[in-house]
Amino acid sequence: MRLKNLEINGFKSFPKKTNLDFKSPVVCIVGPNGSGKSNVVEAIRFALGEQSIKSMRSKAGADLIFKGSKYLPKGSRASVAIYFDNADKIFKLQNENGENINLDYDVVSVAREVYADGLNKYILNGTEVRLKDINALLASVNIGSSGHHIISQGEADRILNALPKDRREMVEDALGLKIYQYKIKETERKLERTTNNMKEVSLLRRENAPHLNFLKKQVEKFEKAKEMKVELLELYREYLKKESIYLEKEKTSLSTDKKKVIAELEIVKEKISTNPDDNLVIENEKTNNLRALEEKISKIRMVKNELERKLGRIEGMIEMEEKRTVKPERSENVSIQREELESFLKEMNEYLEEAIYIDVLENIAPVLGKVRDILNRFSRNFNQTDNTSISDSQIENLKNTEREVQNEIDKIELEEKNIFTSIENLKNEINQEIEVNRDKEREKYTFKVKYGELSSALNIILVKEENLTRELEIFENEIKEGAGFIGSEILSYKNFEIVEELINKSKQEENRRRIERIKIKLEDVGAGGGGDLLKEFEEANERDQFLAKELEDLSLSIVSLRTLMTDLKEKIDVLFKEGIKKINVEFQEFFALMFGGGTGSLNIVTEQKRKKTDDEEGVEEDDDTPPEQGIEINVSLPHKKVKELQSLSGGERSLTSIALLFAMSQVNPPPFLVLDETDAALDEANSRKYGDMLEKLSKRSQLVVVTHNRETMSRAGVLYGVTVGADGASKLLSVKFDEATAIAK
Ligand code: ATP
Repeated sequence: MRLKNLEINGFKSFPKKTNLDFKSPVVCIVGPNGSGKSNVVEAIRFALGEQSIKSMRSKAGADLIFKGSKYLPKGSRASVAIYFDNADKIFKLQNENGENINLDYDVVSVAREVYADGLNKYILNGTEVRLKDINALLASVNIGSSGHHIISQGEADRILNALPKDRREMVEDALGLKIYQYKIKETERKLERTTNNMKEVSLLRRENAPHLNFLKKQVEKFEKAKEMKVELLELYREYLKKESIYLEKEKTSLSTDKKKVIAELEIVKEKISTNPDDNLVIENEKTNNLRALEEKISKIRMVKNELERKLGRIEGMIEMEEKRTVKPERSENVSIQREELESFLKEMNEYLEEAIYIDVLENIAPVLGKVRDILNRFSRNFNQTDNTSISDSQIENLKNTEREVQNEIDKIELEEKNIFTSIENLKNEINQEIEVNRDKEREKYTFKVKYGELSSALNIILVKEENLTRELEIFENEIKEGAGFIGSEILSYKNFEIVEELINKSKQEENRRRIERIKIKLEDVGAGGGGDLLKEFEEANERDQFLAKELEDLSLSIVSLRTLMTDLKEKIDVLFKEGIKKINVEFQEFFALMFGGGTGSLNIVTEQKRKKTDDEEGVEEDDDTPPEQGIEINVSLPHKKVKELQSLSGGERSLTSIALLFAMSQVNPPPFLVLDETDAALDEANSRKYGDMLEKLSKRSQLVVVTHNRETMSRAGVLYGVTVGADGASKLLSVKFDEATAIAK
C-alpha cells in the first residue's frame, strides 16, 4: 500500500482542483510563506477524518471552504481525496457484525467533503460511509487518527508537551495498537448494546409473562379437561353400557310379565264371566214355586177348614135333630154327653194346636173362624127347643151332606198331603242348590281376588313401564348431555365389554355420581378455546422460549465480549510493553545520533487516577479499574546535567522530538509520514543528520515534507512548489531542485 495522489478541490486556499502525485518516497513541498503549503498538509489531515477543526487552524467547518478573493468567487464546498495504491490488498474493513467487507480494489480512495452549513461527508471509493468506517479502514493500515504520522508546523514537540496519558495514546497509535483500541471501543459498544438488548428482551419477557401464564393456566385447564374427558368417557362407557343392559332387561322382563299377567287376567276374567249368577235365577224359580205351593196349601187349608166347619155344622144339626126326636126333658141343668164334650174339646184342641204353629198371621183368621163355629154349634145344642121336630128324612139328608162334605175333606186332605210332600221336596232341592251355589260363590270369590291381584300386578307393571320410559328418557338425555362434553365418541359405550354380567346398582350409582362430579368440574373449567388456545399458547411459549434463548445468547455474548475485552486489553498491554522496549532501542539510537551521545528513553508510569472536577462529565469509573498508565520521557544530554524536558532549548526540544517521533516510526512504520517544517529549528549540522534520518525512514514510509531547508529538499525525489497567483489562489507545480530552492526563499 502506498500513497498514490492527493486531490484538493475548494479546500482553503485551493479553489481549483489541484492534484499532487506521490511518485517518490520523499516528496517535498516548498514555497514562500503563506502560499498554502500547510493547507496541503491540512488537506491530508482533513481527508483522513481529522475532527479537530482547530488543528486545521479554523473555527468551523465552513472555514475550510475557499473563501473567495477579489477575482474568484467563494466555494460552496471543500473536498479532498487521497488515493491509495491497494495492489497488496492490505486495506480491511468490517461491518457491524465483524464480517469483512470486500475491498478488493487496486486503488482505494478516501475522500471528505464539507459544506457551507458545516455538514461533512465521508466517501470511500465513491460511496458515502461513516467517519467510523474511515477510521477503521485507516487503522487497518496503521494510519491512526491521533496524527502521529502528520506533524504539523510547530507541532514537532507536541509529544514532549503532552501529558503522560496522552503520550501513551500517541505511542499506542504509533505502535498500531489503535486498531485494538477501536476493537475495545467497539466491544464496549457491543457490550452496551447487548446489555440494552438484554434489558429489552427481559422486559419483553416480563411483559409477556402474565399473558403466557394465563395461557399456560388455560392450557393446563384444557389439558385437565381433556384428562377428565378421557375419564368421563371411560366412566360413561361402562355406565351407559350397564344402564342399557339394565334397561333392556327391564324392558324384556316387564313385557314378559305384562304378557303373562294379561294372559292370566284374561283367563280369570273368562272364569269370572263363565260363572254368571244363574243359580240365583234357578233359586228364584224354585222359591217362587215353593211360594206358590205354600199359597196353594194355605188356600186348600182354608177350603178344608171351611169344609170341616161345614161338616161340624152338619154334624151338629144331625145331633140336634136326633135329640129332638128323642124328646129329652128340659131341665135347668144341661146334661152334655161325654162323647159330645170330648169331641168338642178334641176339636178345639186340634184347631188351637194348629193356630199355635201358624207363622203367617193371615192364616190364623180361618182357624179362628173354625173355632168360633165350633163354639156356636156347641152352645146351639143346649139352646134348642123341645118343640122342634125334625123328620128322620131330614136327618138322613143331613147325613148325606155330611158324607159328601167328609169326602170332599178327605179329597182335600189328600191333595194337601201331596202338596206338602211337594213343598218338602222343593225345600230340599232349594237347600241343596244353595249348598252348590255356595261353593261356586266361593270359587268365584277366589277368582275375583285373583283378578284384583292380577289387576294391581298389571298396574304395577304399567307404573314400572312408565318409570322405565322415564328412565329411558333420562338415559337418552344423559347420552345427549355427555355428547356435549365428549362428543359422539360417547356412543362407543355400545362396544364396551362388560366382564360381570350382574349389574351392581350401587356401583352404577357410584359411577353416576362420579360422572356428575366430573361434569360439574368440566363446566367449571369451561370448554376453552381448544385448538386455538393451544396454538396461541404454543406461539406465546415459542416466543418466550425464543426470548429465553435470546437472553441466553445475549448473556453468552456478554461473557464472550468481556473475555474479548480482557484479551484485547491484555494484548494491548503486552504489545505496548514490547513496543516501548523497541521504541527505546530506536530512540536511544536516534537520540545519540542527533546529540552525539546522551540517553533518551520512555518509561511507563502508573498515574494515580485524577479526582474528577465538577465540570468534568463522564462515566463514573469503578474503583477496581486499573490506574491509568502514562509515558514519561527521560533524557540525558551529553556533557550536560539537564534532565528536565522543560529546561531544553528550542533546538534541543526539536531534536528530542524528532528522535522520538522517528524512533516511534521505525518500530511500526506508518505507510506515510507528513512533516511540516519539523526541521525549522535545526542548524546546518543537524539538518544533515535530519536528512540522513529522513532517508532512513523513507525506506519504510513515504514521506511528505514541507520545508524551507535546502538540505531537506536535497533528499526529495519529487519537489512541488506552491505559489499564490494574482487571483489569490494557491497553485501547485512540480519543480526542479534549483527552482525549488529559489521558490522556497
Ligand atoms: P508558511 O511557509 O508561512 O508556513 P504556508 O505556505 O504554510 O506558509 P499556509 O499556512 O498553508 O501557508 O497558507 C495560509 C494561507 O492560506 C493564508 O494566506 C490564508 O489566507 C489562506 N487561506 C486559509 N484559509 C483560506 C480559505 N478558506 N480561503 C482562502 N484562503 C485561505
